[in-house]
Amino acid sequence: MSDIGHFIGNQRVAGTSGRSQPVFNPATGQSDRQVVLASTADVDHAVEVAKAASREWGQMPPLRRARILDRFKTLLQDRTTQLAEAISAEHGKTQDDAVGEITRGLEVVEFAIAAPTLLKGEVSENVGTGVDSHALRQPLGVVAGITPFNFPAMVPMWMFPVALACGNCFILKPSERTPSAALLLADWLAEAGLPAGVFTVIQGDREAVERLLAHPDVKAISFVGSTPVARHIYTTGTANGKRVQALGGAKNHAIIMPDADLDMAADALMGAAYGSAGERCMAISVAVPVGEDTANRLIEKMVPKIEALKIGPSTDRGSDMGPLVTKQHLEKVRGLVDKGAAEGATVVVDGRSFTAPQGYEDGYFIGGTLLDNVTPDMTVWKEEIFGPVLSVVRAGDYREAAAVVAKHEYGNGVAIFTRDGNAARSFANEVEVGMVGINVPIPVPMAFHSFGGWKASLFGDHHMHGMEGVRFYTRLKTITTRWPTGVPTAAEFVMPTLG
Ligand code: NAD
Repeated sequence: MSDIGHFIGNQRVAGTSGRSQPVFNPATGQSDRQVVLASTADVDHAVEVAKAASREWGQMPPLRRARILDRFKTLLQDRTTQLAEAISAEHGKTQDDAVGEITRGLEVVEFAIAAPTLLKGEVSENVGTGVDSHALRQPLGVVAGITPFNFPAMVPMWMFPVALACGNCFILKPSERTPSAALLLADWLAEAGLPAGVFTVIQGDREAVERLLAHPDVKAISFVGSTPVARHIYTTGTANGKRVQALGGAKNHAIIMPDADLDMAADALMGAAYGSAGERCMAISVAVPVGEDTANRLIEKMVPKIEALKIGPSTDRGSDMGPLVTKQHLEKVRGLVDKGAAEGATVVVDGRSFTAPQGYEDGYFIGGTLLDNVTPDMTVWKEEIFGPVLSVVRAGDYREAAAVVAKHEYGNGVAIFTRDGNAARSFANEVEVGMVGINVPIPVPMAFHSFGGWKASLFGDHHMHGMEGVRFYTRLKTITTRWPTGVPTAAEFVMPTLG
């Protein structure tokens, strides 16, 4: 079995912990590689190397940092297929879907290349007689990112391009289930000219995360993953004096109004609920049609589409979706569908009976599933399923539908399908959710806007990338300047008032 190791000081290294765990191909259920799991000493070493690089990197003119990122962008564009294959082999998503996530990550690199503009400060001349003020943004030093399995390239790229452009050294702790993409990104950053120690990959589990949270030289933590872990990261990281942005889980609803274009809504829901086997934090997992007629017509349109989903390995270019990420996750999703049925939901399309393609019988496949007559007291509504399961909660009117959305603990994304501009506008204004789509099912903001949810979907004050990312990865300093003019001065003992 070959090992997947760390990347420290611009080199792939094995680490010293002696701990590792297997990495599986979800389509076959087989494992021929294992990922090493860092010890506290491995993390300490990585932080030491990063800290040693941080002064020079932070002092480098932003334009030169941007040029390195520009070369990295070109390498990434040229090698998208290689990276997509590595992602699909560990995650299971289709290769087109993997290319999609790389493209969304690349957009953040493109944003970060504007570093000299993004870091421009503010100047006020004559804040007092002969006194000027200027405010500037400086890097934090060493910062860390801890990322989930479901976007092995895009989520790290929500973080590190902006962190590096702002002059920080970045330590990435990827998911132990999908560890390889991080190493390719690290190789190509080094090839683009990034100095040793500026970008580090530490493979690991809870032990590595706890050390990053406690290490005094790690100044900020960006986290994306499930809500219980996000809450822990935020509480512990901030208690240790760090800046933390911790993005958590989601349960994204789509309200379908009676006046909606139902063909458009049905197609949008197919991609949003079943794309990437539902393993997206912006997947739509609950449809809330308004009125019995809307619900019946929507379901009628969707059922044949769900039954026609092409489910297979990522290597089959015809697949619409692949398997789930691990056997444990497959069992969890199946168990939740069982529970939904036991609690009274109607299983309209049952993915549990899906038969895997020949040669992939040990893969973690489940078919697209549709549950109707789901109510907010059921486990399938309360919990994030993170699988290809769409729950339908029927609402009598718009207010009832909006109340279902408002009641959920999560507030990541939401969508409304309607032709009524006023209804859409009121909904967008009132809903307590961070990212809203109007006839757009997965409203993931572009790189120059910022990504983040509300309520239990985000702990912290800053969303990711865009100007929120620049603010997160920099500290504001304001400098007030007076030069001697030759005019005699006198000591003043009252609070200075420059004006
Ligand atoms: P996860 O919380 O299990 O793991 C995320 C990261 O935390 C991994 O690097 C993992 O090694 C680490 N980790 C896991 N348990 C830990 C613990 N007890 N202590 C310290 N570190 C720990 O999440 P996942 O299963 O990899 O990813 C799926 C989850 O991520 C879903 O809940 C999904 O909604 C969420 N997600 C959210 C967003 C968002 O933008 N809000 C984006 C992608 C994924």
